[in-house]
Amino acid sequence: MSTIAVEVVYRGIFQKTLARNIVRSIVFAARKEGKIGTAFGRYGDSPERNGIPAKQFAIVADTAEELEENLAVYEAHNVDVTINVDDTMSKGIESWAWYGLQPINQLTKPNGTLIVTSRQTADDLIEDMHQRDEPYNLSIIPSVPSFSGLWVYKDDHTDARILGTLCKVCPDLVSLASMLEAMKDQGWSDLKASSAEKAFERGTQRPVEPGEGSAETPFSFDLPGWKTMEEGLVIRSVPQGGGFRGGEEGFQPARSDVFKKYSTRSMRPVINFDTCTKCTLCWLQCPDTVFDVTPDGLYDANMEACCGCAVCEAVCPVPDCITMVSEAEFNDNNSQWEAWTKDKDGYNKWMTVLVDKAKLETRTHGFHHVGEYAEQGPQAEED
Ligand code: SF4
Ligand code: SF4
Repeated sequence: MSTIAVEVVYRGIFQKTLARNIVRSIVFAARKEGKIGTAFGRYGDSPERNGIPAKQFAIVADTAEELEENLAVYEAHNVDVTINVDDTMSKGIESWAWYGLQPINQLTKPNGTLIVTSRQTADDLIEDMHQRDEPYNLSIIPSVPSFSGLWVYKDDHTDARILGTLCKVCPDLVSLASMLEAMKDQGWSDLKASSAEKAFERGTQRPVEPGEGSAETPFSFDLPGWKTMEEGLVIRSVPQGGGFRGGEEGFQPARSDVFKKYSTRSMRPVINFDTCTKCTLCWLQCPDTVFDVTPDGLYDANMEACCGCAVCEAVCPVPDCITMVSEAEFNDNNSQWEAWTKDKDGYNKWMTVLVDKAKLETRTHGFHHVGEYAEQGPQAEED
């Protein structure tokens, strides 16, 4: 066996413990087979704000020398398996320390596997993921995203199901038997072990051919070289004052030229402009200054800046005026207010479909989240 690398792409804070459980279990299982491995996080020392995409890795080798050799030159340019624990990151990720948009499959080796937890079909997911020149495989674990918090962990078996699937799609890494032993050693329950076994049995892969997927060119910009880097400055601060568009034009605050939050959120607000009373609460309370004031005094959430926290939905006093909708439903970041202004009937029909669908879906986090752990464990078993 040569060295095998696995990356877990997760949302900062919400899924930190989930990601850690996965990479540590891989290394523990590898040790059961006399292999050696290491698990580590990237950006662990940076401010992992809620929702910012981040990564943890597990590297497994036959010998310490082999592992050392690989780690000495190791920059995560390619991995055998990429694990994406929130399908809304399939459109690409902008993590804290990366500039621009990185396709979710960027590091996946040719003929490697991308595992995604999702309720979407393979075709829908592939539509979101950037095209590649090499083939790879897609393996889907039917699931809603497993979100929790910095110090708390939602034991809904997502980690066990991912590890079971991983043993199936990457048999050279570790056997299922070793993985189950490693789970037992960590005190995981028999029920979790059975979730891993079921996931192993059900694990399938769908080949993704070169050229399949989104043809979008990922957002990028010129990075400053070390000679041009300004002292103490990583991201230029947002200028004060904002971009006043004029009394007739409404108001748009200034925003960072380089730090966009397109992939930071897993949900976005959808606004019913017909019922908005212009009370200003969303504009005042949004922690990321997302709302542009429109020329007619309405509030338009600008998707360059929204982190998807759902504060606006919680503070809006008008029922259903702001509804958080899964990012998986959107293929652009265009202004909702402009769409509404151009075609009010069309916008309202589009909005109604999204809002009705959102109400039926299990909300994983945000201010309307009610602790659903008890319900989600058995549900995961059924999936
Ligand atoms: S979800 Fe709402 S409150 Fe939160 S950042 Fe986006 S617009 Fe602002
Ligand atoms: S909080 Fe609701 S009603 Fe108030 S301005 Fe925002 S969208 Fe309109």
